[in-house]
Amino acid sequence: MAYNQEVFAAAQQTLEERRAAAEGRANALRSRMIARYPRVAQLEAEMAASTREITKAVLAGGDIDAVIADVRARNESAQAELARLLHEAGEAADNFAPQYTCSVCGDTGYTDHGVCDCLHRLLADNAAKRLGQSSGMKLTSLDEMDLSFYKEQLPMKRLLDFCRDYGEHFAADSDSLLLFGPTGVGKTHVSLALAKIAAEKGFTVVYGPAQQLLSRLEREHFGKAEGDTAALLTEAELLVLDDLGTELNAPFYQTALYDIINARLLTERPTIISTNLSPAELQGRYGVQIASRILGTYLPLPFKGDDIRQQKLERRLRGL
Ligand SMILES: [Zn+2]
Repeated sequence: MAYNQEVFAAAQQTLEERRAAAEGRANALRSRMIARYPRVAQLEAEMAASTREITKAVLAGGDIDAVIADVRARNESAQAELARLLHEAGEAADNFAPQYTCSVCGDTGYTDHGVCDCLHRLLADNAAKRLGQSSGMKLTSLDEMDLSFYKEQLPMKRLLDFCRDYGEHFAADSDSLLLFGPTGVGKTHVSLALAKIAAEKGFTVVYGPAQQLLSRLEREHFGKAEGDTAALLTEAELLVLDDLGTELNAPFYQTALYDIINARLLTERPTIISTNLSPAELQGRYGVQIASRILGTYLPLPFKGDDIRQQKLERRLRGL
């Protein structure tokens, strides 16, 4: 995936902070230990000297095996003494060395084989976050849903319970969801709440109004803007497409939508779509190819009720 410079710089910055924090903690522990046990500094010097002894022996061409065995034994005894002192001080022996967030690359972002998985993930997360922020949508919580706005509270409660459970158990291979129903009955609220839960669990989440994401994709596709939207929409661990059906009915959007939905289906990545369109209208608008994929594989969650914004306004007017 190609990322822009800002995304890259932000990821590098995070790695640097992680590295500095891990090394800072180890250095602080070392200083505490040396202040309390001056012997620790001696042990460190002995261990460093033993490495030099091996180099010297190799260069001198003597009985290298014997030197190595001897040096290793002394090294082990110094290590053991250091571990004893750390234990006595109530410190975990592992913390004497920097404990990096990523033990594979030591928070450098690179291994001998190239870019480390941790840097890949940071880049995807940063890019997804920037995209989410640019949507102007605010992530919210399921607890803020007010059931008193629904005439049929029981089905809505069941639906929310299902969503709560879905969020709690969200995984990279969770089911895709289709939230459908009239305007203003909480579909966007629920889908953004699920986006928030997944993001808090550490998944890469891309969310936004379908119209906005598709138009961004179009501008990038035709070279009018730079970005990584195409990759993000297919590779995010959760994609939330809000208000599908309000975007322009243009051939480019249809094709792009098909590509995204199909790619995510093939790689079993969950997608949450909210729409005012009924399943029949989805088929009318997007044709069998797209509609059958959505209707055949997404779990349908029907939202019913009257426009909550309208009800809130009425309540306010009545002075409630
Ligand atoms: Zn790493």
